Amino acid sequence: MLVGKVITSASVFWPGTLEKISAEQFMLSIRNQKILAVLRWAKYIDLQFSDFHVFIHLRMSGDLVIKEHPYSPEKHDRIVFTMEDGNFLVFNDTRKFGRVWLTSNPEDVIGNLGPEPFSPDFTPAELHAKLISHHRMIKPLLLDQSFLSGLGNIYSDEALFLSKIHPQRNSDTINLDEAVRLYQAIQVVLNNGIEHNGASIDWVYRGGSFQNHFHVYARENQPCQFCGTPIIKIVVGQRGTHFCPVCQPGIPSGHF
Ligand SMILES: [Zn+2]
Repeated sequence: MLVGKVITSASVFWPGTLEKISAEQFMLSIRNQKILAVLRWAKYIDLQFSDFHVFIHLRMSGDLVIKEHPYSPEKHDRIVFTMEDGNFLVFNDTRKFGRVWLTSNPEDVIGNLGPEPFSPDFTPAELHAKLISHHRMIKPLLLDQSFLSGLGNIYSDEALFLSKIHPQRNSDTINLDEAVRLYQAIQVVLNNGIEHNGASIDWVYRGGSFQNHFHVYARENQPCQFCGTPIIKIVVGQRGTHFCPVCQPGIPSGHF
C-alpha cells in the first residue's frame, strides 16, 4: 500500500508533534524520499527510508490514513505528506499525544522496548520469569512497553480475563500455570484483534469489528459470558480496567 511510494513533500501543521527535530529540518529531509518498508514495533509505525526511519506513535487519538487527491487538510491534521502519485498520507491527532521521530538510529526510539508477544524467543517460561522478577501490579506491568511490546489497554483486560487473573494481582504472585494461561491468552486476544480488524500486525487499523468480540472491555455491568456475574470497571494505574470478580478471584491476602 505504501511501500515503494515516494514522498515528494511534507507539511507540518503542528511542530509539537515532532520529537528532536525542527519542522524545517523534517520537511527538508523527507523530500523526494521513497518508502522502502513499513513495519510495526509495538505501537510504533516504522516507515523506512534509505537513510533514516520515520517512527510514528499514534498514542490515544492519532490516526495515519491515506487520502486521495484532491484533499484539503482538516482541523486536527498534524503532518500531511504529499506522495508522488498525488495522494496524501495524513497524520491526524485530535488530542496531540501522538509523536513523530525522524532518525537514522532506530535504537533511539525503540531501543528499550520489551519482547514482541509473537517473537519465537518469547515463551511462557520467559513470561513467568519476567513476571516474578518484578513486584508490580500485573495490569500496569503488562501495559509497560519495556516489559512487553504492544499490549494495549483493551488487550490487557481481555488477556487477564481469559487467563482468570485479577488485574490487581502482584506480578510476583503469578505461578507458572497462570503464566502459561496468560501467555496463551495474550496470543489469542492479539490474533483475534488482527483477525477481526482485517489488518495485519504490520499495520494499525482503526475500526474493524474487534469491539464486538470483547469479553470484558467496555462491558461494565453486563453479564460475564462465562458465569453471568456483572463485569466490574475499576481504575488501575490510571487506566479503566474491566474484569469479572468471580472468574478473576480477588487478591490473595498478605501480598501487599
Ligand atoms: Zn465470570
